Order: sequence, then structure tokens, then C-alpha cells
Amino acid sequence: MKALVWTEKEKVELQNRPLPDTAGKILIQVAYAGICGSDISVYLGKHPRAKAPLIMGHEFVGVVEAIGEGVETDLKKGDKVVVDPLIYCGKCNACLNGNTHVCRALNLYGTDCDGGMAEYVAVADHTVLKLPEDMDFKTAALIEPVAVVVHGLRMIKKNFYTSACITGLGPMGLLAAIMLKNSGVNRLFTVETNKKRAEHARKLGFEVIDPKTEDVVSYIKKRTGGEGVEVFVEASGAPMSAAVMTDITSVRGEILLLSVFKEPAAVDLRAVNFKEQILVGCRVYTQLDFKDAISYTYNHADEISAIISHLHPIEDGQRVFQDMIRGSTEAMKVLFALQQ
Ligand SMILES: [Zn+2]
Ligand SMILES: [Zn+2]
Repeated sequence: MKALVWTEKEKVELQNRPLPDTAGKILIQVAYAGICGSDISVYLGKHPRAKAPLIMGHEFVGVVEAIGEGVETDLKKGDKVVVDPLIYCGKCNACLNGNTHVCRALNLYGTDCDGGMAEYVAVADHTVLKLPEDMDFKTAALIEPVAVVVHGLRMIKKNFYTSACITGLGPMGLLAAIMLKNSGVNRLFTVETNKKRAEHARKLGFEVIDPKTEDVVSYIKKRTGGEGVEVFVEASGAPMSAAVMTDITSVRGEILLLSVFKEPAAVDLRAVNFKEQILVGCRVYTQLDFKDAISYTYNHADEISAIISHLHPIEDGQRVFQDMIRGSTEAMKVLFALQQ
């Protein structure tokens, strides 16, 4: 089978690989695989766990090709499926408590073992979830990032709020914007420095503030009667955003940390005390979040598919990754198309 293999820092190559061993697993013929920010860290040699040679990709969809020996499942050959890529130990306290998504030894297909940037991948049966027959495959490749946002928004304690701000309009931030808008948030602000991303979001009807030309804190305070927003979603991973998020957020407001900061960032913790704010961490998703992300993506396919900016064959892998590291903020979601 054809596979895109990460071989060393800043290098992926197309290789011919034998089909993976299917004993105890389900073999999937991959249709589309998305590139995630964490795949970029792997590519750059910066991911703490990934070891070359590795087939990356944890955001993928395809059809069941074969059910491995010893697997009992209702799935059958030809079913359209998506994979919940989390691998957990089942023994640590987080797992025993039902929080397998924050397992102490959490692993991921495409990071800790081979993933979906190949014609075929073999995965554990409990990770394979059936898609509606008529679901568009390309849009379904976004279910994994949608699941992260579903999980994050569920962790916010307020169940009704009218104002929110999102910093960073990459795929994750834009998905959060779409979902917050659909949930009925009345006043939704977004912040983005990259012109193309800002323009993309404006076309989708969002109010985008450019922090290079506008003082974001006073802009939002002026429009919220001096109160700030009730919910702040950090999706940029930028220190500048961390520095102002407590100021932009209201008294007793909540701050959801959707992006992963690469380094410790300065936060005004005194504001957290004085305004009794809540900081909410978010890593991935439970399988229930993942299942709900399937139906959410299915029901809002038009809006969600607008996140996809590029489609490439895996033959272009090296060039695609190089383009992304040079001007990554201009691309939204980039997918590899495995079946033509
Ligand atoms: Zn991802
Ligand atoms: Zn565990």
C-alpha cells in the first residue's frame, strides 16, 4: 500500500508498505486524512512522543475493508467509518474514573503508532464509529477537530450566555465560532491577526477584530457596557492572547483554553482572583463527544465544510508540509485525498 511516512525532521516520503497486520483489528481503506497542528509538530521533530519512521494522521475517514480475526462487531465491509484515535491504558486513575481521554499514558494513532496518511490503516474495533451512509467524506474528516470543540464547550459551566470572544481563527477557532453562533450567543467577537483567515471568517459573517489596528480590550469593553464577555475561547496559543484574556472576560466569566500553548505564557492571575473567573483546560474528547460530533458535523455540513481550504494527494506530502510550515497560518484545514 502507499503510505506517507515521516522519516526525519522536516521530511516525509511516499513509501510502499505491506498491509498492516489485522489480527484483533479492523482494516480501514482511508478516504481522507486531515493535517492537524500536532502533525506539524511531528513533522518539525518537535513532538515529544513521536518516533520516526511514522505514518502520521489522526483525523481520517474511510470504509471498512476487513474485519480482523477475533473481532466481534456489527460493522461490515464497505461501511463508511470514522476513527476516534485515542489509545488509553484503562488502568490509571483517570481511566478508572471514566476519563480515558486524559489517561496518564494517552496515545494517539498517527503519533504513537501508524495513523491514517496511508491507503490502509488497522485500528482497534472500539475506535471505529459508523458514519451515516449519505455523509460527505470530506466534511467527515473534520469530525475529530469538531469533537475537541464539542468537548471544550461542554466543559463551560454556564449553560446560557450571551457574549463570547474567540482569539485565533484557525480551524479550531473557526469551528468554535460556528458552534457558538449556532448555540445562540448574541454578541460574538473574534480576533485574528492573519489577513486571509480574518477575511475568510468575515465572509462567513463573523465580526473579526485585528489586534494590529485595534485595541481589542477597549473595543470589546466599549461594546459590552464595560463588562467584557461572559465566555472567552482561547484558540490562538499566542502569548498576547493569554495576556489580555482575563481583562476581556467578565466578572465570574469563564475562559476555555482550546489551543495548546507551546511555552508557559503570562496570565494576570490577580484578575482571576478579583473577578472570580474560571479557567477551563481542554485536551481532547470523550467517545460520547466524538459521537455527538458525528451528528453535529452531519447536520451542519455546509458550514463546517467551509473550513476545508486544500485537498492534495499524498504524493504531494513533502511539498504540502513544507508549504504549511512556511505560511501555515494562511491554510485552514488541509486534507489528503487517498481515493481518487
Ligand atoms: Zn487533530
Ligand atoms: Zn489510563
